This record gives sequence, structure tokens and C-alpha cells, in this order.
Amino acid sequence: MGGRSSSSVRGTRSGRGEGRRRHDPYKLDAKLPGSAFCGSCGVSYARGRWSWAPRGAAAEMRTCPACRRIADKVPAGILRVSRDVARSFDELMHLMWNREHRERSQHPLERVLAVRSSRDWIQIETTGVHLARRLGAAIARTFHGELETEYLRGQDLARISVTPRG
Ligand SMILES: [Zn+2]
Repeated sequence: MGGRSSSSVRGTRSGRGEGRRRHDPYKLDAKLPGSAFCGSCGVSYARGRWSWAPRGAAAEMRTCPACRRIADKVPAGILRVSRDVARSFDELMHLMWNREHRERSQHPLERVLAVRSSRDWIQIETTGVHLARRLGAAIARTFHGELETEYLRGQDLARISVTPRG
């Protein structure tokens, strides 16, 4: 299967975009031709940006980058919060969902992808770097932790940690 279609992007039928040096199928600010609508989450793309506007008449169905990341389990932001900082898991989750909800209207592709917890850490994975940074800053402020941010792969992946203040 597959033939000679693009190796990096599923579901694209046209050859457009191949001229780019590197095609990231998850790129949040990637420009698409025309308009699109994601059937999974209901986000719309028109005039160069994604928003929660209703589906346009000419919009073609297309899975948005955030839903793709969620389906493929590929986070852009990885935020680790030390259990010594956030002792209450419930309190942390409450803060996190509150923030996510607030960011959602302005940044529709920034979402929480997964939450994992271990004995020492609570790890929050996001579809965008921006949300991970905002969450990290809010958590550090609320729980009096120390925030550290590291960027990898250019700016495409951020690892953020909130640890006890030294
Ligand atoms: Zn979507």
C-alpha cells in the first residue's frame, strides 16, 4: 500500500507542501490551502488560522494537528511536576483543567493529551508548547515550585519541570 504518496502525511492526496524543507504533520501554525473542519473536535480552519468558528460551507474535513497528536500520542509539551511540590493530585488536576479550559478559546490547538503519575512525579503532556508553559508557570506559582524549561528539536518540543525550590 501507499504507492508513491507522501511518506510523512497521512490522508493528503495532493502533492502540495512537498516543496517545504521539512513537513511536520503536527505543525500548529502550518498554513493550509482553503478552509477545513476537524470532525473529531469541531475546530475550524479559515484564513490561515484555527478557531472554534462553525464549519464553513466550503470547508473540507481534515483532522486537526491537535487531534493527530492525541491519536498518535505525540506530545509537544511535557510538564513534570514533583510530588514534593504538588502533594494533592486532585488540587493539581483542578488547576490544570481550569487553565486548559481558559486557554482553549484563544488557542484551540493547545490541549492536554495525557496525564501520567508515578510515585515521584505527575506528568502532564500537551499538544502545544504554549499550554505546557502556561500550566507550568501557573503550577509553579500556586504551589511555590521552581520552574525549569528546556527546548528540544528547535522549539518543537518543550520539557518543563516544577521542582521544590532549592
Ligand atoms: Zn481536531
